[in-house]
Amino acid sequence: MIIILKHGASDADIDAVSEKLKEHGYSPNLTRGVEQTIIAAIGAPNLAEKDLVAPQLQALDAVEEVLFVSKPYKLVSRESRPGPTEFAIGQHKGSTPVTLGGKQIVMMAGPCSVENREQLLDTAQMVRDAGATVLRGGAYKPRTSPYDFQGLGLEGLQYLAAAREATGLPVITEVMTPALVEQVCEYADVLQIGARNMQNYDLLREVGRCRTPVMIKRGLSATVEEWLKAAEYILAGGNMNVMFCERGIRTYEPSTRFTLDLSAVPAIKRASHLPIVIDPSQGTGRRDMVAAMSKAAIACGADGLIIEVHPHPEDALSDGQQTLDTKQFTQLMSELKPIAQAVGRTI
Ligand code: PEP
Ligand code: MN
Repeated sequence: MIIILKHGASDADIDAVSEKLKEHGYSPNLTRGVEQTIIAAIGAPNLAEKDLVAPQLQALDAVEEVLFVSKPYKLVSRESRPGPTEFAIGQHKGSTPVTLGGKQIVMMAGPCSVENREQLLDTAQMVRDAGATVLRGGAYKPRTSPYDFQGLGLEGLQYLAAAREATGLPVITEVMTPALVEQVCEYADVLQIGARNMQNYDLLREVGRCRTPVMIKRGLSATVEEWLKAAEYILAGGNMNVMFCERGIRTYEPSTRFTLDLSAVPAIKRASHLPIVIDPSQGTGRRDMVAAMSKAAIACGADGLIIEVHPHPEDALSDGQQTLDTKQFTQLMSELKPIAQAVGRTI
């Protein structure tokens, strides 16, 4: 159930609704918007929900409406919120915050992996000068082979913080295990849940406990519905600042590394109020396809893009084949502008 409170509801009103929910065995989850305050009732469906609990809630002065959400992903579901969710990225000191989910398309760019201080700082300056507003870079890397470069770990996080300090760009980086969530939160403005961890429920619960925004990438063979339910774990923990990221799914088609499912954009928009970004780098695995898919992503309504960029992709320690050099990224940014404009957005 979702309880929508009347405009101007006070703390005492919120407490009254929360107490009533607890009495019936639910845990209340509060979202205070500028326009509206809503309380989601989390917990096992109560048999008396429709006949007893809802009428009792409705009888409270502050309650505007009680909605029954039929979907298993209640907080993620579009029914639970009136409009699209927008939130700021850039909570750390030194970050220039940017809003995701609004008119502006958020461009996240940077290397697949943080390799050294110089590589990261050079890339950060360049992508910022080209118009990117978030820096990406993997410090903990989920590599298919245990013999491949596994990332710099904590040292990589420190370079990300240095790059933020130097450029003002908020940073996004992957966290792979629950035990490292606290550490990564100290450095990251956005926590990335990698495709291989989309259904790592302990990890999802842990990032749900913190207040750093989260990007949840689509699992390699996950359906949209499974992805929505995975995101629900994070919101159910109280972290409402979640974005989806479509990064390609496994199909029979070998001409690309994965098949970038752009129809996930309208599918997610129909099902959820949360923003969605596209990763055309992992999604195609091919540098020569990144520009075309980026344009298509903006045209079909994506709220942002995350793109791999390296000063020398041929020397990259991971994913060089799908990485743009700095000149190519600058060129792409200029090509994306008229497309964003055509769909009523800015870059
Ligand atoms: C990445 O962003 O470099 C990455 C490993 O992503 P994914 O989890 O989508 O494979
Ligand atoms: Mn990569």
